[in-house]
Amino acid sequence: MSSPGPYSIGSNHWPGLSKLIEEAGEVQQVVGKLIATGGKTKHWEGSDLRERLQEELGDLIAACFFVMEANSLDEETIRSRHQAKLMLFHRWHVEQADSVAPSAKVDEQMDEVSRLGRLVDAGTPRNPDGTINNCALACGEDVRTCQMCLNHCPDQAKFESGLLPLKV
Ligand SMILES: [Mg+2]
Repeated sequence: MSSPGPYSIGSNHWPGLSKLIEEAGEVQQVVGKLIATGGKTKHWEGSDLRERLQEELGDLIAACFFVMEANSLDEETIRSRHQAKLMLFHRWHVEQADSVAPSAKVDEQMDEVSRLGRLVDAGTPRNPDGTINNCALACGEDVRTCQMCLNHCPDQAKFESGLLPLKV
């Protein structure tokens, strides 16, 4: 087996960057097809574009985590930026949707934006023992509501096994 080139998985020079751009390109391909169909999920060649988008987003997120981990990028900086940006996107979504969405739905979304804002404003949410950040479990919520860590929280298993206390 030939040795990997720089920027590839397995190299020691910015490993995973080539995979990151490859997966980002695959997301672009699916999005391009969705735009071409006017948002219809059934593509002319038979595939389901919603399913393909889900798969490629998953691939892209995996590539992001790999690049972060394999290049020892600062996880806290990235997570903090991720939270702030996610909250901003939700806020824009609510603001832009205000003229077309039913008001009750907007109120509900604004409540969620406000909740996310409080989490960010309060700094990184932590369990009383200080070992956790942004896990839905640490916030006393159902793990399925976790969006901040995309289920990559290293302490999730500890919470589920009872090794770390849940906030109630
Ligand atoms: Mg892919």
